[in-house]
Amino acid sequence: MPADFAFSLVTKYCETCGKALILHNNRDIQRKRFCSKLCLGKWMVSQGLLTNDYSLETREKMRQSKIDLLKTGWLPTGWRKYLPHRRIAGRGYVFIGQKREHQVVMEKVLGRLLGKGEVVHHIDGNKTNNDIGNLRLMTNSEHMKYHTSQRRLSYVSASI
Ligand SMILES: [Zn+2]
Ligand SMILES: [Zn+2]
Repeated sequence: MPADFAFSLVTKYCETCGKALILHNNRDIQRKRFCSKLCLGKWMVSQGLLTNDYSLETREKMRQSKIDLLKTGWLPTGWRKYLPHRRIAGRGYVFIGQKREHQVVMEKVLGRLLGKGEVVHHIDGNKTNNDIGNLRLMTNSEHMKYHTSQRRLSYVSASI
């Protein structure tokens, strides 16, 4: 067996956060210095190599300020801009800009962004009826359970 294929583990440490990196291929062993793009980004910023810092922290700040705005009744930029172009696309959902209207409405009512496992369900099954009275916030698993119990509904409509 050529030496290159000998399996060995080398431990290096992320130069930004110190997290251990367990490496097994030669290319990584020679070149890898950071655990993640975030740590690479932080290092680049510290070296002045990156000025337009869209690191996770920046994104988190932007996300938080968006949530703060939602609490004050603010609607995403797309709302006004795209309202005349409110359109039905993607499996029958109503879109406002890039966002689905039922999700926008729910986020506005909640005063926060939807979480990853959260689904906005249409009570009457009509994806274009995005009145808040027709919308219910569910977890993904609740939602799946609900729709599998509705035997008449096909898999396709399971995301209504
Ligand atoms: Zn790191
Ligand atoms: Zn549903």
